[in-house]
Amino acid sequence: MQRLLPLIAALCLLIGAGNAAAETAAAAVPPSTLDSAALLKTPAKQLFGSMKLPADMAPQAIGFYAKGCLAGAEALPVTGPYWQVMRLSRNRNWAHPAMVKLIEKLAEDAKRLDGWNGLLVGDMAQPRGGPMGSGHASHQVGLDADIWLTPMPDRELTPKEREDTQARLVVKDRKTIDSAVWTDAHARLIKRAASYREVARIFVHPPIKAALCKWATGDTSWLAKVRPYYGHDAHFHIRIKCPPGSPTCKSQPAAAPADGTGCGQELAYWMGDIPWRKAQPTLPPVKPVRPPTPLTLAGLPAQCRAVVTAH
Ligand SMILES: [Zn+2]
Repeated sequence: MQRLLPLIAALCLLIGAGNAAAETAAAAVPPSTLDSAALLKTPAKQLFGSMKLPADMAPQAIGFYAKGCLAGAEALPVTGPYWQVMRLSRNRNWAHPAMVKLIEKLAEDAKRLDGWNGLLVGDMAQPRGGPMGSGHASHQVGLDADIWLTPMPDRELTPKEREDTQARLVVKDRKTIDSAVWTDAHARLIKRAASYREVARIFVHPPIKAALCKWATGDTSWLAKVRPYYGHDAHFHIRIKCPPGSPTCKSQPAAAPADGTGCGQELAYWMGDIPWRKAQPTLPPVKPVRPPTPLTLAGLPAQCRAVVTAH
């Protein structure tokens, strides 16, 4: 993890089970303290990061997973019969109600059918979605959730334990699964999530995809949804399709791997060095580069202004 941190920071990737110390949250700026001009100039992550409660509107995922917001969010209860939410201080257990329902269903199915002892749930979305001050490029519209690859213990964790416990890595490195940690129950859990019609994508670290390709038998079409991506070595990421009633929600392009499962060429690419070499931070440039301008409300769908300013 330590080795990956600069890489993650550089690419602004997804770290649902990530190291809190590595994240520097942007200061929260409540929209009610700003006039109209300042509202449009303030980085959207500071506005959305200041909202403690959802916008009291009909549930709607607005925009794209990595550029949007969320109206009428619902909270996943922090302790359920088959799940517990981690990192409560982040207040990111909000999502579109369709996502909350899906996580609850996965938790129960995994416990009853897959021998998985309940879910530890990482980041979902902020109460009104939108860009986050730390950690993720996506998770903006309430249709993304991170699930730890560490099974839930048989007791209720204290709030402090939910802050301090680290998710256990299931890989030895970016090419090798840790067979002392990885089990068939992990594979069954991911297959279960991929089997739901609502699920568009699941992101895992490349050796996890390799382990699933080796493990899968019979109908392997579910593997098409499970895609390798950086940073998913201790949790996996579930992304669902746009739910009904969200007309401005932009779906994940379907684009199945050419071989139907992604176990061939796509996996070989991720098991190779090219994607990692691309992601390595390079030497400091001679001329200082201006950091990218942070996303403001002007860069988000128009409805997001109403969502973030609603009482
Ligand atoms: Zn994620």
